[in-house]
Amino acid sequence: MAELLFGTAGTPHSARSGATIDGIERIVELGLGCMEVEFVRGVRMSEPSARQVAEVAAREGIKLSAHAPYYINLNAHEPEKIRASQERVLQTARIAALCGAQSVVFHPAFYLGDPPEKAYDTVKKYLEEVVQRLKQENNRVWIRPELMGKQSQFGTVEEILNLCTEVEGVAPCIDFSHWHARTGIFNSYQEFASILLQVKERLGRAALDDMHIHLSGIKYGGKGEIKHLDLKESDLEYKELLKTLRDYEVKGLVICESPNLEDDALLLQATYKNLLKAG
Ligand SMILES: [Zn+2]
Repeated sequence: MAELLFGTAGTPHSARSGATIDGIERIVELGLGCMEVEFVRGVRMSEPSARQVAEVAAREGIKLSAHAPYYINLNAHEPEKIRASQERVLQTARIAALCGAQSVVFHPAFYLGDPPEKAYDTVKKYLEEVVQRLKQENNRVWIRPELMGKQSQFGTVEEILNLCTEVEGVAPCIDFSHWHARTGIFNSYQEFASILLQVKERLGRAALDDMHIHLSGIKYGGKGEIKHLDLKESDLEYKELLKTLRDYEVKGLVICESPNLEDDALLLQATYKNLLKAG
């Protein structure tokens, strides 16, 4: 990736319709650079539609990623729920590849009262099966477990980076808002930079050159994330964060998940571009 691109989680609100292709066209009109295709309530896109999406995105020069369904738990206690979860990641990865998306983001698991080390081993085992399968299918989409915002959810910085180190074909989705909500801290230049340094130390410079970032304002309490907010209604120091992304020359996609989607994506992009000019 040559630069840092900004876009929305799903089709922008101001698009002609909710359709993915209308979303891409609107991203172009807004002057944004990328979009995440949301399969959060299920993968319901036909193969011909996915090929059309790929065509339009390539023609317009818009980078795509995909978000897998929310109903995934690779630490489920029932084997059939594990299989169904693996299937949802696989389905998303297959349609994402047809869409020309380079990454699939997913929420890996809940602890369900298990010790975190036990949940880790379970998630790793079932994730390995998924990436093996995709390898056999010659599917080269990055599988990106997301840093999660609630303390009941598997997905600390450590857990995500360990998975990326130990499982081939897996890369992180760094959600700085989730981490701030989960810890109550991690809202300053130094703290944001410490995460980037960890990514670099564990995964190498190449990981910073192809990052996948989620960002939004966020409301949180003692157990972490409560809900997403628009940036200006939240305490997230997004400008400090953008400074670290500039200073560490991070490249890749920043997907805005604020309720106002494109408004905050544009705010982030404009702020970042001003920071670049300021040097
Ligand atoms: Zn997510």
